Amino acid sequence: MRAWAALVAICLSTALSAQERPFFHTDVRERAAKTALMKAAFDDVAAYFVTRHGLSLSHPIVFLGSDEPGGMETLLADALARHDRRLRRNPLDSKALCDGKRLGAAANREYIVMCWRPQDSYANGWNSGFEPRFTSVLAHEMTHHLQYQLARDRPARRMADNSDWLLGPSWLVEGMAELVETDYLTPLSAFGGKEIFDYQTRARRSRLILSDLQESGSVRGAAAYGVARFASLMLARKHGMETLFRYFEELGRLQDRAAAFEAAFGQSLASFDAEFEALRRDFGAARDYGRK
Ligand SMILES: [Zn+2]
Repeated sequence: MRAWAALVAICLSTALSAQERPFFHTDVRERAAKTALMKAAFDDVAAYFVTRHGLSLSHPIVFLGSDEPGGMETLLADALARHDRRLRRNPLDSKALCDGKRLGAAANREYIVMCWRPQDSYANGWNSGFEPRFTSVLAHEMTHHLQYQLARDRPARRMADNSDWLLGPSWLVEGMAELVETDYLTPLSAFGGKEIFDYQTRARRSRLILSDLQESGSVRGAAAYGVARFASLMLARKHGMETLFRYFEELGRLQDRAAAFEAAFGQSLASFDAEFEALRRDFGAARDYGRK
């Protein structure tokens, strides 16, 4: 037993040392305290991915966090230039990301950006209750980076027929990141009927079907996220979260969404779309999906 524990410790430390830590950037005010909080959050999330999913970042990204949205575009441009990263054609819209929000976050191939409302003081960490939310949202953004990594999608690739970006369908990209965000705080394995019912209810209220949410960037707004989350939950319950990660690996290998979906989940995207319409309406079918 002791040898087994030692082996796990060695494997874990090897995996953690392989982890590429980001370049941390923030604004001037309380720089040291903010950087320390961001580093602590990153280390917690990185440890979660290693222990729960056996995954770590192999590419050092820029992690910019700030409670001053006004200067974020400049901060991001400076940070990316400092690490020889090119600013992509869609510059950050910090107004849309941060204004009026307690916490805003976005990921792109080279960075994670997070903005939050100023805390009363950074002397003793985050104001009470904020830290778990911050770290779980960071887990969501880190999921996107692992998707890019597994799909070999940095820089972003187009589909073979050039109809869209390769990374998709959008409902699975976002739905999976939402599931990880939840799983970080409350393991999905602890989900019972109530949680499934809540997820299903949000999906049932929307008229959006999965084929509306395929295109890159099409998951926007609460209703779309509700549908994406429930569809991804169904796949995770039937196949396990590891199969969702494997889908992105297949996507990188096959460079085709339909073929990757079939390779990972053993059914066509179109047949899951149809099955999903029954799952969102029938609680028993959703609860028992994938259960023998
Ligand atoms: Zn996302």
